[in-house]
Formats: sequence, structure tokens, C-alpha cells
Amino acid sequence: MGTSAGAGSMKKWAMIVDVAKCINCNNCVLATKDEHIGNEFPGYAAPQPAHGHEWISIERHTRGSGSMVDVSYVPTMCNHCDDAPCVKAAGDGAVYKRSDGDAHLLDQGWTKPRCVQACPTGALESMHVSDENMQALAAREGLEVLRPEFSTKPRVFYRNLRRTYQCFIGGNVFRTRADGSQENVEGARVELSIDGVKVGDAQTDRFGDFKIDGLQGNAAKYRLRIFHNAFGQAEATGVLHKSDYRGAIPLTGRTS
Ligand code: SF4
Repeated sequence: MGTSAGAGSMKKWAMIVDVAKCINCNNCVLATKDEHIGNEFPGYAAPQPAHGHEWISIERHTRGSGSMVDVSYVPTMCNHCDDAPCVKAAGDGAVYKRSDGDAHLLDQGWTKPRCVQACPTGALESMHVSDENMQALAAREGLEVLRPEFSTKPRVFYRNLRRTYQCFIGGNVFRTRADGSQENVEGARVELSIDGVKVGDAQTDRFGDFKIDGLQGNAAKYRLRIFHNAFGQAEATGVLHKSDYRGAIPLTGRTS
């Protein structure tokens, strides 16, 4: 988008990637290849080889199993770190980074790089912004960077990255009627506790499904307690390592 965001210290280019909007169409990958394969931009980049390089690649993250699965796509690229290890490793100036970023088309007056132009969903957003305003925006919107433990100050930020590392617990609640037939139960109340502390709740939908999201997969012991005023109750326990679809859970205690 090429947004200029406020006054302050020197503005630099940054990218925000919204994981919730990426649909894995690979338009950005192709746009980057189209721009760089066979094309040299002196002072910016050597030509990209036709094979073996992905200057943008899309990571796939899948959660759940059975009939409760979701997928997130994470476009990854050079993070344009302000404290770039590759620059230090080169040591001889063979790799360097301009203090305001590196953007040959933007230097020519383009308002956004080609990958941003090519993205049909708005998952990629380029910004021209000071460090102070970028940090404020990241704090306000909960933006994250990849591998923050390396402290390399990436200038590629991610929105909704938690979809890739948080877990959910889900299931399908049903009852058995007096005649032996079964039906999904809508409106059952589901409570989740971890290590004895209630951490979430949900209500089953018209298909009897529930999903409690935003959990940490840290091998915690959990307990599900399910209640329905008319149809009874159920309980399930487990250990949360990753997203856990419990499948069909029968209510017991009452039949009608
Ligand atoms: S163009 Fe946009 S939606 Fe398509 S893969 Fe790239 S980031 Fe995702």
C-alpha cells in the first residue's frame, strides 16, 4: 500500500503479512519470479536462478483431524532484519542493507512492490514508516515477527500468526434417543479446564459441534465437562500437545 505513517525518525520500508488473508494462491511467488528471473538489478539483486530458489515461499500449517481441520498459510521471505546475521556473516560487504530498506521499484517511484500488487486478498501490505510508529503499530495490533528469539529486528511483521502455533479442542456432542436413534445436540454447554482451572467455554452449534481455540500446546492435562439441561452430560480428559478433535461425544444420564 505504500503508506506513510506519521512523523518522527527516518522512515523505512516494512511489510505486514496477514496470515488470516493468505489463500496460498502463489501470485506473490510468481510475481517475484517474473520480476527477478533473468533480470539483474545492479546495486539491488543478482538474477534469481530459474530453479531451486523461492524468494517468497508459502508455508502450510494444518490443525485438527477428522471433520474438524483448518489450514493457515504463512508467506515467508527475507525478513530485511535491521540487525541482519547474513550481513555480519558475509563480513566483506558482499551482503549489505540500506538503512531505509531495499526496494528497487519503490526507488523508481512505485507505491508498492510487485508481490503486494499481485496479492488478490490484501494479505501483503508494504509501509513506509518510522521505527517508533512501527513499534507502536505492532504493539497496538499484536503483530509478531518470525523467530523473535534471534533478536534480529525483522522488518516483516505478521498479523494472526497465532493461528499457526495455538491449539484448539473440539468435538461433536450427540445423544441417543429412547428408540436407539442418535442426533446431534445443539446448545450443550462445554467447559474446558486445564490443571483444574477453567480456561474456556463454548456452546455446541446446530450440528452438535464445539471448538475452543487459542490454547497453548504445552502438554497440559485438560478436562472437558459438557452439560445439556434436557439431554444429560459428558466428560472427557486428555493431554494437550496439539489441536485435539475428540470426535463424537455421547451425552449420558437422560433419554427422551
Ligand atoms: S498472493 Fe497473497 S494470498 Fe496469494 S499466496 Fe501470496 S500472500 Fe497469499
